[in-house]
Amino acid sequence: MDEKEIIEVEQQFTPNTYARKNLVIERGKGALLWDKNGREYIDCMSAYGVAVVGHCHPTIVKAIKDQAEILLSCHNSIYTEARSQFLKKLMPITPTGLKRAFLSNSGAESVEAALKIARKYTGKTEFIAFVGAFHGKTMGALSATWNPRYRTPFEPLVPGFKHVPYGRTEAVTAAITDKTAAVIVEPIQGEGGIKVPPEGFLRELRELCDRKNILLVFDEVQTGFGRTGKLFACQHSGVVPDILCLAKSVAGGLPLGITVAREDVMGALKLGEHSSTFGGNPLICAAAAAAIDVVLAEALPERAESLGRQFMARLEETRQRYKIVREVRGRGLMIGVECRFDIYNMLVAAQNRGVIILDAGRNVLRFLPPLVISREQLDKVASVVDMVIGEEDARPHGANPASA
Ligand SMILES: *Cc1c(COP(=O)(O)O)cnc(C)c1O
Repeated sequence: MDEKEIIEVEQQFTPNTYARKNLVIERGKGALLWDKNGREYIDCMSAYGVAVVGHCHPTIVKAIKDQAEILLSCHNSIYTEARSQFLKKLMPITPTGLKRAFLSNSGAESVEAALKIARKYTGKTEFIAFVGAFHGKTMGALSATWNPRYRTPFEPLVPGFKHVPYGRTEAVTAAITDKTAAVIVEPIQGEGGIKVPPEGFLRELRELCDRKNILLVFDEVQTGFGRTGKLFACQHSGVVPDILCLAKSVAGGLPLGITVAREDVMGALKLGEHSSTFGGNPLICAAAAAAIDVVLAEALPERAESLGRQFMARLEETRQRYKIVREVRGRGLMIGVECRFDIYNMLVAAQNRGVIILDAGRNVLRFLPPLVISREQLDKVASVVDMVIGEEDARPHGANPASA
């Protein structure tokens, strides 16, 4: 198929729910992608943070090929070695105290499981989430998600969700009632604009939840698996949640959601109370086990930490040069550049120069590159970003500044 036909077919046969880039990608390797014409791009999007180990990592590809020859599907009601091997690798690296994992297929599903587990364990029905939060778009996860643009058309949602300002412990305290089951929070908000909470916030949440007998759920679907410079972002603060949601990056590019919980908390789920047909699929588990090997062997969290530091320093130079940049923030290789104006033009300009960048709202450039990206590739990204911001800065502004 040629590019034009590919685009036409996708547009004709799928709902118009994605803001699409004018781009057809054919192949990927490490931090690079190639389009149908063989044009090369440095990928700072990673399929929305999925490609932590890079595209088509040989260890992942081999694990998938080997498993594909043996067994492709096996329901959770039957044991299989691929799943068992994966769990044996996963559980020792999850935060101390989290002992059981429910396997599903996506971020939203990992959140849905967390909500059900929290309700069942506490016998309570209310949740506290945050302004700017993103937890997915299925009905339960959407109820925890903040953005009115996603929520309003589908109301009424699951009742009992309150959203309080991110980073403000006193607002959480004020929202707690005797029906509160859990607080659900991203250790760094992703879709909400790469928001890093104030120092001590997660620790205060932990103390508050302990004091009030409420569960603490961390949604690390975007921050997890090395992205922020630690295997899990909660490890920056030493805080362990009662339930941890993972997805996006955990299976080397394949779909996997994981809800990890304390032994007693997960124990609340009784026979038949939650399940997933595809969850724990042997092919996905083989890829996920290989992804753990790669993340550890290549010390990807440490890599994210040091590369992120260098990259942010360069972005900070750009910020100081151009008025349109308001702030550079993030941790590891999860970085946002907040601008004073709509960033759409800059995304397109960067793509035309061979760099794919993501947005996080209308005025934040978001960088989620594969953690295997090279220093040289990131230097090139920094140069391109400096150039496109410089061009945008030189344009006459003031007509329609993006509302933050
Ligand atoms: C992407 C994301 C989700 C939803 O994941 P899906 O796989 O798209 O359902 C949930 N929480 C966070 C923090 C995310 O970034």
